Amino acid sequence: MSESPTELGSIDPSIPATIMRERPAAAPAEGGAPPGSGDLTDELLTSDQWTDAMLQAAGIPVADVPLVSIGGGIGSFVTVDYLRIAGVPTSRIAVLSNLDFPWQTYEYLTRVSQIPRPERIRSDSASRPDNIWGFPSYALTEAFADGKWGELWHVFVEPMWADYYTPKAGRVFAGLERESKRIGWDQMLVKGQVRMVRKRYGGGYFVILTPKAGVTPTKRVAYRAEYVHLAVGYPGLRYLKELQDFRTEHKDYYHVVSAYEEHEHIYEAARTKPITVMLRGGGIVASRVLQRLMDDRENHGLQTHIVHVFRTFIDKAHSPNEQSLRAWNKRKGGHGFAYQGFNYPKSVWGGQLKSEMRRLEGEARATRYKEMGGTNTPWRRRWQAQMNQGRREGWYQIMQGTVDDMRIGGDGKIVSVVKSKSQPGPIEISADYIIDCTGLEADIAEHRVLKDLLDHSGVGRNPTGRLDVERTFELRGTASGPGVIYASGATTLGGYFPGVDTFLGLQVAAQEIADDLARRGFCKKIGTFRSISQWFKWARNKQP
Ligand SMILES: Cc1cc2nc3c(=O)[nH]c(=O)nc-3n(C[C@H](O)[C@H](O)[C@H](O)COP(=O)(O)OP(=O)(O)OC[C@H]3O[C@@H](n4cnc5c(N)ncnc54)[C@H](O)[C@@H]3O)c2cc1C
Repeated sequence: MSESPTELGSIDPSIPATIMRERPAAAPAEGGAPPGSGDLTDELLTSDQWTDAMLQAAGIPVADVPLVSIGGGIGSFVTVDYLRIAGVPTSRIAVLSNLDFPWQTYEYLTRVSQIPRPERIRSDSASRPDNIWGFPSYALTEAFADGKWGELWHVFVEPMWADYYTPKAGRVFAGLERESKRIGWDQMLVKGQVRMVRKRYGGGYFVILTPKAGVTPTKRVAYRAEYVHLAVGYPGLRYLKELQDFRTEHKDYYHVVSAYEEHEHIYEAARTKPITVMLRGGGIVASRVLQRLMDDRENHGLQTHIVHVFRTFIDKAHSPNEQSLRAWNKRKGGHGFAYQGFNYPKSVWGGQLKSEMRRLEGEARATRYKEMGGTNTPWRRRWQAQMNQGRREGWYQIMQGTVDDMRIGGDGKIVSVVKSKSQPGPIEISADYIIDCTGLEADIAEHRVLKDLLDHSGVGRNPTGRLDVERTFELRGTASGPGVIYASGATTLGGYFPGVDTFLGLQVAAQEIADDLARRGFCKKIGTFRSISQWFKWARNKQP
C-alpha cells in the first residue's frame, strides 16, 4: 500500500505537487498494512467510522486538536484568520498542508499564467484575503504607500471611465505574508499529505496525515478533531482530450503545454525567430497569455503570429437565455470573448444574486449558475487596442472551432485539424507551439481525499457535481455527533453561494463557518466591538 511520489505529486515535472493531481481511479487497489505497523490496516481502509481502538491496533499515533483545516492555501488561510480574530488560540487549530505558505499555489498558478508579482490580478480593490474588513482597500493602500493618488480617482470612476482597479499580485502576497505572521500561521502549520478524513465513533473525525518521510517514526499520524475544514483548491488540471492524446502519443510536453505549466520557453523561442502560437480558450488566462505574446511582440519587435481558437465563439452581447425576461441584461461580447469584469456579476458577493441563490435548489440552481457563469474575461482597454492592432496587421487570427485531430506536419510543426461552424470542411492550422488555456476543471473524485469522502462520509454532489454544502458550508450528511466538516473553495462550487472560489467568496464562506462555530461554542462571535478592536490590532500589526 504505497503512495509513490507520482501518486502524491504531479504527473508533469514542471507542475509542483501543490497542484494535486492524484488519480485514485488509476491507482492500484490499496491493500491494508499489517496491524501495529503505523499504517492503514484493512479494517481502517474499509470502515466508514473508526474507533480509537482501531487506530491503536494499527499503531497510528493520535494527536488531539479541536479544529483541523486541510489544504493550507488561501481558503484555509482566510478561515483560520477569521477564527484567530474570533479569539481561537493557535494551540486549538492545526493546518495540515503540503504548502510552505498559504499563497504558494496561487502564486505559482498566477506566475505561470502570466501574472507575475508586478502585474495586476483579477479581483477588486476590497477583496483582501489578508484583511477581513476589506479596509483600507488595496487602492487606498496603493495611493498612500506609493503616492499614487490617481488610484483613488480610478476606483471612483470605474468601470465607466476606467477599467476596474485591480491590485498588483506582489501587493497581495506582501499583505498575506504580514497577516500570516500576525496570526501565527507557522505555529499551526503541519506539513504533510492528507490521505483521508473518517468519522469517529463517539463524535468528531480522524484526519490521516502522511508526514514527510523521516519526520515521524510511523508512516501516518492521525489528528482527532471535532471540527474539520476542507479547502484543497482545484482537484487537478484537465487537458483538452486531443491535446493530452497528442502529448502522450508523441511524449511532447514541450510544444503542447497548459498555461498552468511553466512555458517560458515559448516566449523565449519567440525572441529568437518568428513562430506561430496557437491559443485555445477564452477566459482570463487566455487573455493574459495573449497579452504577454503581444507585449513581447511590441517591446522586442518580434514577428510572432497568433492563432486563437475558441470552442464557443462570442461575437456580440449575449444572454444564455435570449427569450427570458432577463434578456435585457446581456453580457458584452465580441471577437470570440465573453466580457465581464469579474468571474460572476458583482451582486453574487453581497447583492440580489447572493440572496436569490441561497433560495434555489437542484436544477433551478444549476440553471442559474449556467446563466451567470461560463468562461469570460474582463474588457480591458489595453488588451482591446493590442488585439485590434493584431487583427488589422494580420498577425492575430481568431476563429471558432473544435480540433478533430492533431499530427506532426512535414516541416515538424504541429498541425491541428479544426472543424469550424463558419466554414465547410476541415481547416488545417500549423503552429510551432500550442498553449491550452482552458482550465483547471478536473472532477472532484480525481482528488484522493475528496474521493474518499464521497465513498465513506455520506456527502453527496451538488447540482453541478461538486461537494454538497449547506448554507453554513457544512458538508451535508457528514455530521458526526457534535462534529462538523466544513468545506470552501472550488470543490464546493454549485452551492448556495456562487462566488466561493474567489478571495472575497472564501471570506464570505469563512464568515459563515466562524458564525456557525460561534453558535456551537467553539469561538467568540465577531460582533461590533470585537470587530472594531480587532481592526485596530490589525492596523497596528498586533497579534489578534
Ligand atoms: C490563475 C488564477 C488566478 C486567480 N485569480 C484570482 C483573483 O484575482 N481574485 C480572486 O478572488 N480569486 C482568484 N483566483 C481564484 C482563487 O481565489 C484562488 O485559486 C485561491 O488560491 C483558492 O484558494 P484555495 O484555498 O481554494 O486553493 P489553494 O490556494 O490552491 O490551496 C489549496 C491547497 O491545498 C493543498 N492540498 C490539496 N490536497 C491536499 C492534501 N491531500 N494534503 C495536503 N494539502 C493538500 C494544495 O497544495 C492546494 O494548493 C484565481 C485562480 C487562479 C487559478
